[in-house]
Amino acid sequence: MTDADGNAWRRRSVLAVVPPARARKLAKVPFVELADGRLQGVVSSGSDIERVYVSSLVAGTHAYHCSTNNNRPCGGLRGAPCKHLEALADEAVLQYGVDRVARYLRVDAGDGVGSGTDLLARMDTRHEPTPAAVVFSRFLRHLAYLELPDSTTALPELHWFPATGAVR
Ligand SMILES: [Zn+2]
Repeated sequence: MTDADGNAWRRRSVLAVVPPARARKLAKVPFVELADGRLQGVVSSGSDIERVYVSSLVAGTHAYHCSTNNNRPCGGLRGAPCKHLEALADEAVLQYGVDRVARYLRVDAGDGVGSGTDLLARMDTRHEPTPAAVVFSRFLRHLAYLELPDSTTALPELHWFPATGAVR
């Protein structure tokens, strides 16, 4: 990494300061991003500490999918988004704010929408399998960032978030 990049990182890390209350949620949803036209990320299994789910929701079409990182379909998908997608959406709202997430996904948030789960309920969602590999590899890069000394957990998401035009 060059000095110029390092300086850019430091500027971003100032912007990435988040309320400490958020830290409690990180174990549940270790990775969330608005990227590649999707809300996507990784959600821990409630029952198995070794297992993670890769969940995604496409902006505009609201096609969703959830599977393990080995592409095994999530057992919670029964004609509706599973609890992992709800947790992912909730975490995205905490991280980016409901307005930004709603604009990115192209859903009319309206009044009374305070969480990602509320937002999901407003969408006409449908299931459409998508490979987990791309999202999971981004998660692994995210973990590599987390292992850097003095990094903040919010930094990688902000680093990847497109600087211009992402939500309009
Ligand atoms: Zn799931």
